[in-house]
Amino acid sequence: MAALYGTPTYVYSATTITENVTRLQKSLAGLDLKICYAMKANSSLALLRLVANLGSGYDLVSGGEIRRVLAAGADVKSSVFAGVGKTEAEIEFALKNEVFAFHVESEPELARINHVAGRLGVKASIAIRINPDVDAQTHAKITTGKSDNKFGIPMRVAAAAYEAAAKLPHIKVAGVQMHIGSQLTSVGPFREAVEKVVPFVAKLQENHALEYFSIGGGIGIIYEDALASGSKDWWDAFPEDERPLTPESYGAVLTPLLQPLGLKILLEPGRFLVGNAGVLLSRVEYLKRGANKNFLVIDSAMNDLVRPAMYGGYHEIVPLERDTSRPAMTADVVGPICETGDCFAKDREIQTVGERELVAFMSAGAYAFAMASRYNTRGRPAEVLVRGSTFELINRRETFEDQIAGEQIPAFLT
Ligand SMILES: *Cc1c(COP(=O)(O)O)cnc(C)c1O
Repeated sequence: MAALYGTPTYVYSATTITENVTRLQKSLAGLDLKICYAMKANSSLALLRLVANLGSGYDLVSGGEIRRVLAAGADVKSSVFAGVGKTEAEIEFALKNEVFAFHVESEPELARINHVAGRLGVKASIAIRINPDVDAQTHAKITTGKSDNKFGIPMRVAAAAYEAAAKLPHIKVAGVQMHIGSQLTSVGPFREAVEKVVPFVAKLQENHALEYFSIGGGIGIIYEDALASGSKDWWDAFPEDERPLTPESYGAVLTPLLQPLGLKILLEPGRFLVGNAGVLLSRVEYLKRGANKNFLVIDSAMNDLVRPAMYGGYHEIVPLERDTSRPAMTADVVGPICETGDCFAKDREIQTVGERELVAFMSAGAYAFAMASRYNTRGRPAEVLVRGSTFELINRRETFEDQIAGEQIPAFLT
């Protein structure tokens, strides 16, 4: 693939994504479950089609994402529209495409949806996003369920918000929503949030014909030891109550809490479905040996994969040529961009690799290409999808012409 398409290139496994969907469905088999893939994690058209083929809808956060779903030949009717800043145009576009429901983040948004729906002569289904005020114990930039986050409506005023919603002529109260954060690695915060919100939902059912309860996404993945984590030894090394979160433990804890509601349960996984299904294939440009430090300079940079720079995110870095006879070295793994933040790993122990050799950044399927930019006038990477022994380019590398296509020199400078 590197020879065919160059590097850096994102490579995704259709089989892994399929397995992840199946595993979640099995783990929550006791519920009337609907998966809405949080496509902001990776919105490549091919992946959108893949999850649609597996029966999923989408969790949408912009008009652009609605357009992507349509471009992928998929359906908006089983998707939900989330986000704190929906514009009037986005609401209209979602309604015209018969979105399943809006996940409402504030009272003014509710009024706006009612207004737009009225103008179009339709009724908009809604769920209000409840902020359960629990600590997801994840990175500060991706925790969303604390009362000082911008997300949702506090539980103590939510009942009044529902009463107000029910009085609006163009609104249909259909559900309740919550989402407490991303990359959660223990089931505790999920349990706490569900235990807090379930009684509220049950009470609400007395006065409203609810159809569903959306418990959001946030199931974390294992970034460290991405190669070892499948092995039994690795797993057994954890004390039982400290083992990483799995869909099975998530399902086992939440199913009995949710079952009594008798509602359809919406799940909005992003990272879990695609995170460990992708790698970023990169080439070593230089091994710069210093007196105190080695620098492994590679052809990927923070514009291609921003998680380390933005969240302190960790990725395993694996040489494609595994050679145990070579000595290990310690190096900072860095990209070519003129910022100290353009560093993927500090003092990482890695098998010695030389110029032009290939390495893979593991667990790079989620919040990776989706966050890529053109910083330093670097075209965004190519993307490839693999299934079994076949693979196909699903997004060609961005060219220089792509990058400057919308630019022009103003007349007053010519
Ligand atoms: C981002 C987001 C998700 C998905 O989060 P993951 O951690 O990728 O599973 C789900 N629901 C909402 C409302 C989100 O904002």
